[in-house]
Amino acid sequence: MSGGAQGPALRDAHLHLAAMGDALSCVDVSSCASVDECLERVARGAAEKGPGEWVRAVGARVEGWRERAWPRAAALDEAAGGRPCYVQSFDHHAVCASAAALRLAGIEASTPDPAQGVIERDGEGAPTGLLLERAGEALWACVPAPTSSERREQVRLALASLRAAGFVEAHDMLSQPWLGPTLAALADAGDEDALAVRVWLHPPLREVEPILAGSEHWTRETVRLAGAKVFLDGTLNSRTAWMLEAYDEPAPGHPFGVPMMTAEEIDGALTRCDILGLPLAMHAIGDGAVRAALDAVERIAPTTFGTRVEHCEFIDERDVARFARLGVIAGVQPCHLLTDMEALRRITPRRVDRAFPLRDLLDACEAEGYAPGELVWFGSDAPIVPARAADNVRAACARRREGMGEAEAIGLAQAITEDEAMACMRSPEAGV
Ligand SMILES: [Zn+2]
Repeated sequence: MSGGAQGPALRDAHLHLAAMGDALSCVDVSSCASVDECLERVARGAAEKGPGEWVRAVGARVEGWRERAWPRAAALDEAAGGRPCYVQSFDHHAVCASAAALRLAGIEASTPDPAQGVIERDGEGAPTGLLLERAGEALWACVPAPTSSERREQVRLALASLRAAGFVEAHDMLSQPWLGPTLAALADAGDEDALAVRVWLHPPLREVEPILAGSEHWTRETVRLAGAKVFLDGTLNSRTAWMLEAYDEPAPGHPFGVPMMTAEEIDGALTRCDILGLPLAMHAIGDGAVRAALDAVERIAPTTFGTRVEHCEFIDERDVARFARLGVIAGVQPCHLLTDMEALRRITPRRVDRAFPLRDLLDACEAEGYAPGELVWFGSDAPIVPARAADNVRAACARRREGMGEAEAIGLAQAITEDEAMACMRSPEAGV
């Protein structure tokens, strides 16, 4: 079930290759248990870098470290051999910079805290290296953007990690204009990972026309433009997902979340995509956004197959059967249930049993003659969480984290079988 290279040929139908590659090209300190261990990893990462090159480390869980404290800037300088260096927290809310990095970012004792940010200081007022929230922005501004060869290497790392996890097909869900040409160049160079993982690209709809126009130059057996993407709502954790019922504690001024497109705009997007011969992928997390997507599909009736609603964390009872009736694909990432259980209970206390309604979806599809996996496609949204088939299976079938009892599960009535979950991840393009 861990989906090794010998397992079934898997598809991850929602991820972000460039961001995955970027995370993979950093030093991973997520499993460290102390400051010393973190510094050791940084030193190892630095040994592979040229002079002056940035050493970037991600995934720090300092609350779990023996000292419960960040390294000091000077210690990071020593570990990184004087190269600019930072260690970022797993949740992206804190970052610890080396003295060299602080210098490049122009952060010194006299620098005031920015609005919504804190520069931590020692007894003398000198920055310790730790930057909280928006104090990190000055640092990000001076980290150089990857060169095209670095980008290519990052994409290669992402493909290699997918291949190692058993994936032969990946759907990139907000593709950059350079991604198609980069993938094609890797494939043309005979890169084994690029040849082993087929990638479907979905650029934002507003950027898709020039990308489509140039796509003949980079379309290959393993890479193609597969659609365009729009956002109908935000996210659950920020209470910007568009819900049919008001939140108990809404974001100020947004009782139902934040609809990001009007009905007319969604109709226009579907029509435009259909004219281009591409299916539209609509980001819709809340049940309000999902309904708006389905309503628009019903009105416009696109002739291009493959219109998809991405995320579908909540689907109203009255809308479940409409996916199969309209032939719309539900792109779901059940693995997020594992990380979001507490947030789901807190933010949607009355709707929590409706989160990820997989049993209902598969039953409604079956009633219209669709096999499991034909219209329901699982993904991970990596790098938000790792692309791991086993996590989707666990979330879809047990509806709780490992070690939890049934009473702690979320919406057990929506559990599906392991075979069904695997069907939602099996690549129909198996045998690449
Ligand atoms: Zn995504």
